[in-house]
Amino acid sequence: MNPQALRQRFAGRVHLPGEPGYDENRRSLNPAVDARPALVVEAASTADIRTAVVTSRALHVPFSVQATGHGTHTANDGGILVRTSALATALVDPDRRIARVGAGTRWGAVLAAAAPFGLAPLSGSSPDVGVTGYTLGGGVGWLGRRYGFAADSVVRAEVVTADGRTVTASADRDPDLFWALRGGGGNFGVVTALEFRLHPVARVFAGAAYFAADHAAEKLAWYRDWAATTPDELSTAALLRRMPDSPDLPEAVRGRRVLTVKAMYAGDADQARCRLRPLWNAVGPVLHEELSTTRYADAAMGGTPARYLDLFPALPDPVLRVLAGAHEDGLASTVEIRHWGGAMASPGAGAGPVGHRDLPFSVIVDASVPALSAALRPYGSGGSFLNFLADPGRTASAYTAADLRRLRGVKAAYDPDNVFRVGHNITPDVHPAARVAAR
Ligand SMILES: Cc1cc2nc3c(=O)[nH]c(=O)nc-3n(C[C@H](O)[C@H](O)[C@H](O)COP(=O)(O)OP(=O)(O)OC[C@H]3O[C@@H](n4cnc5c(N)ncnc54)[C@H](O)[C@@H]3O)c2cc1C
Repeated sequence: MNPQALRQRFAGRVHLPGEPGYDENRRSLNPAVDARPALVVEAASTADIRTAVVTSRALHVPFSVQATGHGTHTANDGGILVRTSALATALVDPDRRIARVGAGTRWGAVLAAAAPFGLAPLSGSSPDVGVTGYTLGGGVGWLGRRYGFAADSVVRAEVVTADGRTVTASADRDPDLFWALRGGGGNFGVVTALEFRLHPVARVFAGAAYFAADHAAEKLAWYRDWAATTPDELSTAALLRRMPDSPDLPEAVRGRRVLTVKAMYAGDADQARCRLRPLWNAVGPVLHEELSTTRYADAAMGGTPARYLDLFPALPDPVLRVLAGAHEDGLASTVEIRHWGGAMASPGAGAGPVGHRDLPFSVIVDASVPALSAALRPYGSGGSFLNFLADPGRTASAYTAADLRRLRGVKAAYDPDNVFRVGHNITPDVHPAARVAAR
């Protein structure tokens, strides 16, 4: 079909190869993905999204959706790419403690809309990340141990399905689709609006403290044992880092190898300090501390790019020795152990398929080191978390076997032709019984 004729079908701007705006809108933030779609649509409405889905099916070309490009891992070459950036709205109902956002909204907008009411969304490490992609992938933030994954707070999603219908999914309408959306990623439709619960958190005690990285394996063992005793109000991570030799950094940590403990406590500073003190005593003295009481919306916790990612049922000493050794030998510049659990591990009935809720620790390393992966393999679960998974080929590892089976059944019911396959793909179960069971 003539691309110029296609342009007429959309209310939003359409960019074809070679036109101004094409490069800017086709790009993601992932330098490894250099997609060349046949057409990029800046959706102006749900109708544009529906038209894009129906058209890509009719033309048998790939379809994909991008809000911010923070989580794009697969190139859409020759297909239709829908940009949702123009559909960025954030409405807060303070009485019901509910936010409603459009498909292209970033967390920063929700934080700003919720903060005046003393409310917080379950956002993550960056206000620039898109709410929809983050939430569909589970969404782990620094209030996660207290209130669960972002996906657990979703109450309603408006979705354009693979057959071009507009569906509102909730606990009692299209419940299987609603279940699958809350952790299953972009596999089940294009979400045009999301509604989710906000939580009564105005201020938090948050930041990071830095310690020397000598005896790192022993210090990580202290962290592991201490973390197991912490309340759900406290979310933490321990990192081994090589700090840059930058004049912008405090002298005490500049150019050094350090152990950093990041923490966010949803409560007052005195209680937080009391909780943190045993760890500080064990791994101290403190070289530098940047912990303070701040608005939740202003807490900047940062993240670690995951070249290695695994979830661990426990962190026995040999694991910690391998991690400490890899850092000391310069094989990785950041090693992060994050403490999960709390409300994420006990979400209540009907929660979505965010995998491996029972595993209390993740290990993320910012380098791909085959010897390190091999040494850790006997101890790890082999599981992953969708939002931190750079390799779409490992998508299945983000789910338990039972959830993956059910997800494939729901996929067969709502997207049997796998229209929504660009990205972390869950393939439809080809057995007709799965489709019937999921509807
Ligand atoms: C700097 C940074 C910090 C991060 N911090 C965290 C964190 O703290 N916690 C966490 O859990 N994750 C975190 N992530 C991961 C992030 O949540 C995922 O990469 C997420 O997919 C980003 O969504 P996006 O919409 O911004 O990205 P995009 O690249 O625009 O979209 C990513 C994918 O989301 C899906 N998607 C997006 N919009 C829609 C829609 N409307 N309908 C259906 N599917 C859609 C599609 O599959 C798309 O390929 C972080 C990522 C980065 C780069």
